[in-house]
Amino acid sequence: MNLKISALEYVQEVQSGNISVEDYVSKTIERISKVDEKIHAFLSVSENVLDQARMIDKKVRSGEKVGACYGMPISIKDNICIKDGKTTCASKMLENFVAPYDATVIQKLKQQDAVFVGKANLDEFAMGLTTEFSAYGASGNPWNTDYVPGGSSGGSAASVSAFECVASLGSDTGGSVRNPASFCSVVGYKPTYGLISRFGLISYANSIEQIGPLTRTVKDSAFMLNIISGLDTNDNTTIDGNEQDFLSGIEYGIEGKKIGIIKEMVGEGTAPEVLAATNDAVSKLEGLGATCEEVSLDMVKYSVAAYYTITATEAGSNLARYDNLRYGYEFPVEGYEFNSYIAKARRRFGPEVTRRMIIGGFVPSAGQAGKYFLKALKVKSKLTREVGEVFERFDLLVAPTVPVLPFKKGEKIDDPIALFQVDLNTVTANLTGRPAVSVPFAISNGLPIGMQLIADSNHDKMLLQAAYALEQTVNLPEVPI
Ligand code: GLN
Repeated sequence: MNLKISALEYVQEVQSGNISVEDYVSKTIERISKVDEKIHAFLSVSENVLDQARMIDKKVRSGEKVGACYGMPISIKDNICIKDGKTTCASKMLENFVAPYDATVIQKLKQQDAVFVGKANLDEFAMGLTTEFSAYGASGNPWNTDYVPGGSSGGSAASVSAFECVASLGSDTGGSVRNPASFCSVVGYKPTYGLISRFGLISYANSIEQIGPLTRTVKDSAFMLNIISGLDTNDNTTIDGNEQDFLSGIEYGIEGKKIGIIKEMVGEGTAPEVLAATNDAVSKLEGLGATCEEVSLDMVKYSVAAYYTITATEAGSNLARYDNLRYGYEFPVEGYEFNSYIAKARRRFGPEVTRRMIIGGFVPSAGQAGKYFLKALKVKSKLTREVGEVFERFDLLVAPTVPVLPFKKGEKIDDPIALFQVDLNTVTANLTGRPAVSVPFAISNGLPIGMQLIADSNHDKMLLQAAYALEQTVNLPEVPI
């Protein structure tokens, strides 16, 4: 049984009767028990997956209509709610939280007969980019388990990369789908803001974040988008992308497209290997008939500072509910007055979330807002204007997804500022609502490098065509695990 197939190949194999869902899913579970001790991509593995698989096999055999996923085993980042399952956000705060409802994306996947194989590890409440801030231990990079898999959707990326599932869902607030996709050599897609419902995604910074697929191929991401995108009355920020078929015409190519190479994203802080990969990507894009030219986005140099100011502020209000009255954990109330009770409850947060809470209380506060929060909002609108102007002249933008190669566990954990800088190339798409994708592009000294393409809002279809074209130019080795 070959677990190393794409989502589309999986569907074909089941449709043509070559494999049964039960066989594939049980092999997947075996694979998880074999490799996940080292990778720790999963926080929990579903108990009833084989029952789910058998039910779909029954449908296939009886000729009943089967949903597009045909029992495909998918992992879900543990900040997305699946009814009656634990959703911990990799936090001690939600250690025993059982979701009372399905996220919209889960409902849609259930309708299409997906099988949920387990909940994937992340940085606590999706704050971070290495998964080292998970309260349940870091994940390892399947390319070298001493290295971080990126984050915050590190468990999602690692599980796809290590063949522990066919596809995964993550969330991307400032790069959390694309960064781990780049570090683990899988495709990570962050859609136009509003394309996918956030209902049932536990909010971190809801004005800029999106759920996105992590898959082995670009076509698989398009396949997933077809299922999970669309207008949702439970999320008023969703846009009408319902009618689009992201798979059809994906092989269209990029002949004649104008592509801007973002100057501020290939600068001093870019590792030489990443720079070389970027140059290679540019010549490959030109080889496909596109024209590439350097373009400057002046505000990018302030984007990380603005991003952390805005997201900490939103996180501050979104996470205020974890006060142990509405959500939290049990401890005796005696001996505490109100404030000390709340303070004790909130001590359950780990170091990174605590840091964000402190920043998020300070930067928008009376007397400080003008210096920090309002300034950050100005950067956001100026950056959005700049990006809008650039898209009047260019069809697409290109930059490495992450300026550096995957690094060792523990290497940057004590240096939040150094960590924040790793987000330099990903936050712009979030702050401006634009769609962006990371495509596996190179392996350097055994470590993956992803290439990022960005398009204008609502041009997701064209972005996927470009990503597909770029993907066809590379031939990467197989993950060594
Ligand atoms: N590293 C960024 C942060 O910590 C991005 C996280 C994300 O996209 N969820 O906020």
